[in-house]
Amino acid sequence: MPKQEWEFQSRDCMICGGKDLKFLGHRGGDAHRQGLGEKCRIVKCKRCHTIFPNPMPYPKGEDIRYSDVGDYFENVMRVDHDGHIEGGKLLLAAAEKYLSFKGDYLDVGCGRGEVVRAAKELGWSASGCDISEEYVNYARDVNGVEAVAGTLEDVNFPEDRFDFVSLVEVIEHLYDPKRTVDELRRIIKPGGVLYVSTPNEESIYQTFGNLYYRLTGKDWVVNLCPTWNLYHIFGFSPRSIRYLLEQSGFRIEETVVYPGTFSVPRRNSIAGKLEGLGIDAVEKAANLFGKSPFMYTWARKL
Ligand SMILES: [Zn+2]
Repeated sequence: MPKQEWEFQSRDCMICGGKDLKFLGHRGGDAHRQGLGEKCRIVKCKRCHTIFPNPMPYPKGEDIRYSDVGDYFENVMRVDHDGHIEGGKLLLAAAEKYLSFKGDYLDVGCGRGEVVRAAKELGWSASGCDISEEYVNYARDVNGVEAVAGTLEDVNFPEDRFDFVSLVEVIEHLYDPKRTVDELRRIIKPGGVLYVSTPNEESIYQTFGNLYYRLTGKDWVVNLCPTWNLYHIFGFSPRSIRYLLEQSGFRIEETVVYPGTFSVPRRNSIAGKLEGLGIDAVEKAANLFGKSPFMYTWARKL
């Protein structure tokens, strides 16, 4: 696969305009133990608590990060097709509870289109959009759903068009989440709902992972994982996702931090096994104390 090229631009916080940014550490390149990705300086905005690289890395020339369907979904995300459709059905059932009906649904960043297919099978009027032409073709050809290629802003849906919109593990990939959330507010009907799931960047995993590197004398951080190919641009937590959605006119219905397993590669040496035991302990503690690395939020357009 050809290598993505990057260019870097210094920026204030793109969520709140804040200039007071706290340096957390480096990630990627020689600040990654397998040398994956591009070396970035990771900061946290002191006003809204959003985490992002500064300077911000932008794809230079063609953006080839999402051009290989098999690579991203099978090697990076490791999601299986049927499981994704079943998960989609649970999501739509929750949306129906919020709305008390099945309406017009849009999946932003629909990938291969499994959730759109789940919605269709349940009787919703459903479609998706994704920046990747390759994923959209797959969604249409393999899953038989309506999908359009482009950013949400490019597609330019009519005002008050949808009852329900989801961003399933998408918002952390966007270069301008504030602009996208403003656009979502425009296209969702009054009273309609939005679902956003994203990693919790203030989980115990980041606390202990960053501390672990600090203790070994490195200024590396585990935020914004996966580091390679810079898939994750912005990192949120329950408080920063609330800030982002509320400032665009959404009311938070609920934010749930939920347990799961960390996808940290395990190494087979003695040190690697000890590290594995440490990761398992952190994982158990995270799940016990509600500081897990996964979260979702339901919000309503007022
Ligand atoms: Zn900010």
